[in-house]
Amino acid sequence: MSNKAWSGCTEGTMADVYAKDTRKAREQHKCCECSRNIKTGEYYIFEKGIWDGRWRLYKTCIDCMRVRDVYFGGAIVFGRMWDDFREKVSEGGKEGILEFYDDLRHERLTKRGRDVAFRMAEKEMKKIKQNERRK
Ligand SMILES: [Zn+2]
Repeated sequence: MSNKAWSGCTEGTMADVYAKDTRKAREQHKCCECSRNIKTGEYYIFEKGIWDGRWRLYKTCIDCMRVRDVYFGGAIVFGRMWDDFREKVSEGGKEGILEFYDDLRHERLTKRGRDVAFRMAEKEMKKIKQNERRK
């Protein structure tokens, strides 16, 4: 694993020190991306590093980590991944969303991650259709 993270809590900031490992939860944690509880016994990704001179810790559930790996090549701004995902899916309008459906990379997501991603895409599609009707 590389000892530098591409992103930090501030956009595009490279970590001066960085470590990442997979841990088994000994107590309940909260995922920094989807805010769901990571239950005792569940695996999660633990990352720590120094960004802008400050130590920071991030815990990410496996579902979100898979989305991050598949759609962002592992590089994200912590805590904003799902917002960025929504933007990514909806920026191409209807075609962009259809492309997302056709893009079989989503088969590499966990079931929960895929459910969240599809729900988000469906919501964006609905919004676009509502806007069309308004015109
Ligand atoms: Zn998560």
